[in-house]
Amino acid sequence: MQHSRSTFLLALAGSAATFALAGRPATATGAYKVSLSEAEWHRRLSPEAYDVLRQAGTETAFSSPLDHETRPGIYACAGCALPVYDAKTKFDSGTGWPSFYAPLPHAIATSNDASLGMPRTEVHCSRCGGHLGHVFDDGPQPTGLRYCMNGVALAFHPARKAGT
Ligand SMILES: [Zn+2]
Repeated sequence: MQHSRSTFLLALAGSAATFALAGRPATATGAYKVSLSEAEWHRRLSPEAYDVLRQAGTETAFSSPLDHETRPGIYACAGCALPVYDAKTKFDSGTGWPSFYAPLPHAIATSNDASLGMPRTEVHCSRCGGHLGHVFDDGPQPTGLRYCMNGVALAFHPARKAGT
């Protein structure tokens, strides 16, 4: 099982090979490996995805079909295609946003967000810096974390059977 998942992730990484994999480590304020101009992001993203990923907007609760997606697979950043969550860590939080208890290794970065007058922890893609959502400490075990994601900022890739 572990082996087939690794193979799948490698395949995904290969499909995103147009993006440079080498570069500086991502930080909340520094340069990202995938860095486009605002005009390029506008061209690449839907208006809804641009609002979330590049303007830190929040989609309407219960608006994303991914909220009720339960198939096995991988959720990738809609901005740069970096795999960010395994469906194994997805759970129904009842909030109306796709929720996960753990990201894939090195997939995301966090920063402090005080925009609503209360401290929250923003979650963004480690490769393009795109805003994905927030993380809260009221999630299920084993992590106790709830990664509250905007579905429009994610692209779901259902798992395929080996050999297809
Ligand atoms: Zn990204």
